[in-house]
Amino acid sequence: MLLARPRGFCAGVVRAIGIVERALELNGGPVYVRHEIVHNAHVVAELEAKGAVFVEDLDDIPDGAPTVFSAHGVTRAVEDEAAARGLPVIDATCPFVAKVHAQGRHYVDAGRTLVLIGHAGHQEVIGTVGQVDGPVHIVGSLADVAALALPDDTPIAYVTQTTLSVDDTRTIIAALEARFPDCVGPETSDICYATQNRQMAVRDLAARASLILVVGADNSSNSRRLVEIAKECGAEAYLVADGAAVDPAWLTDARTIGVTAGASAPEILVTDVLGTLARYAHVTLTELDGTPESLKFNLPAALRTLPQDAAQTVETALVAAE
Ligand code: SF4
Repeated sequence: MLLARPRGFCAGVVRAIGIVERALELNGGPVYVRHEIVHNAHVVAELEAKGAVFVEDLDDIPDGAPTVFSAHGVTRAVEDEAAARGLPVIDATCPFVAKVHAQGRHYVDAGRTLVLIGHAGHQEVIGTVGQVDGPVHIVGSLADVAALALPDDTPIAYVTQTTLSVDDTRTIIAALEARFPDCVGPETSDICYATQNRQMAVRDLAARASLILVVGADNSSNSRRLVEIAKECGAEAYLVADGAAVDPAWLTDARTIGVTAGASAPEILVTDVLGTLARYAHVTLTELDGTPESLKFNLPAALRTLPQDAAQTVETALVAAE
């Protein structure tokens, strides 16, 4: 059995979960989190058990309650609503997502029409669209590019959803550049490293294994993409939430099994899947070499600077930081 590397949590997910945990430490709970902090039911359930309350709407948050925005980011309308209500907000938007917001605003301020390469309806895409003053055209396929209702001489700029890799977006960017001669976009070095690394790792895995299990949630865009890539590489591949989701029938003809995990899936669920597999066969586990990752994001200053046992609430901390 082969284990992909890197797999699982990225720096943005570690930071977002750390923000909720630290807010709970400081406040004692409840801490309200708008939307799943990351797309994984196990992570959400663990934080709920510690006192986090997940809501989709700010109306469900009592006045004055500590409020965390999820790693996917939010619209300006949500930020404004929270500010108007005086909610003490801790923003867990991944810094890479925040960078996409800034890029989008920069391009629109420069007079360009913005195209967002991503999946309509995804939480991050909703947030990015709502962070830009002006129309944002969402494209997820070559057909979407062809159907864009814009004159070909429109000065455009593109940004991309972070859970898409360079490989995912390459053909769409090429189609935009072919159709719109005045087309600019961010440097490829600006993209999220984690998505690209996990996709390279699953390709490596699929070259060696006939069956790939991707640990991740149904609503995790990057996890589902790992399954698609494994299939494109010729492997049989399934998304599994945990060990209980493994169907023993998949294992019958598998010569070599590969296991990886999406960026929002905790390692404990990978261990759970490996435990299930070990019940069906004697397994020898080899972890593949992969791209080393060392990036860490700091917690927001208001959470970082307080001592662990501070009697202050998060609200007080945030006011002090202003
Ligand atoms: Fe941030 Fe990338 Fe992780 Fe998304 S996948 S949370 S952009 S580090």
